Amino acid sequence: MCVNKGIIFDIKHYAVHDGPGIRTTVFFKGCPLSCMWCHNPESRMQAPQTITKELKLDNTTRTTKETVGKEMTVSEVMTEINKDIIFFEESGGGVTFSGGEVFQQDKFLISLLAECKKSDINICVDTTGHVSTKVLKTAAPLVDTFLYDIKLMNDDAHKKYCGVSNKLILANLRFLLESGADVRVRFPVIPGITDTEENLIQIADFLSEYKQIKIDLLAYHKIGRDKYRRLGMEYHMAGVQQPSAKRMQQIADFFTSKDFIVKIGG
Ligand code: SF4
Repeated sequence: MCVNKGIIFDIKHYAVHDGPGIRTTVFFKGCPLSCMWCHNPESRMQAPQTITKELKLDNTTRTTKETVGKEMTVSEVMTEINKDIIFFEESGGGVTFSGGEVFQQDKFLISLLAECKKSDINICVDTTGHVSTKVLKTAAPLVDTFLYDIKLMNDDAHKKYCGVSNKLILANLRFLLESGADVRVRFPVIPGITDTEENLIQIADFLSEYKQIKIDLLAYHKIGRDKYRRLGMEYHMAGVQQPSAKRMQQIADFFTSKDFIVKIGG
């Protein structure tokens, strides 16, 4: 079943960190997780919401409000994607559907996947994996590459820092890897939370059953911090610093030593 409308909170043209080549990244609003380090807190709630915007002019600050998220039809999203087709062809790029969690609006997503397929556009889907396996099975043949997040292997820690169990996420990742889907694992390096020795070893063990696994290491950053205040949300990561380049390289070296194909950055 197809759905013609969904809630999108951003469309980025000329993105270079969301899959191969130059891409158009379409951000779906709504996420079932609540990761403490999320730098897109405006993506969590599915409905459009108001964010405060501050404009500094001379010595005064003017506050305005703007709405994040808008309803778009499949055809409106396709119009945005089609503007960039020439760049896809020249760079080996395509479209990336990201979020939030794209599968929160699964029927809308599947309609868009089908449209992109018709136009032979390369498709990446960036997912938390927190989706029914039945839905994932329907979508998988339409997707060229999954960008799949692994955060924490300990289920209690996953519940504590991300708000949900990791059981479904890991089961779906197994399904994709066993069915031969092209998957890039994305691992957010959050100092003191995800980069513990125990977590790194458990991730390596989980993935060691599969060959040619690609892992992208994504460094925690504070870019989204101000959005929490402007959305009236609490920020829990105040004391956490961005990992150093040396620390990122240590983690890259660890996974490389286990025969994974590792890249620092998306
Ligand atoms: S899964 Fe991504 S979008 Fe959802 S809360 Fe976590 S970091 Fe934010």
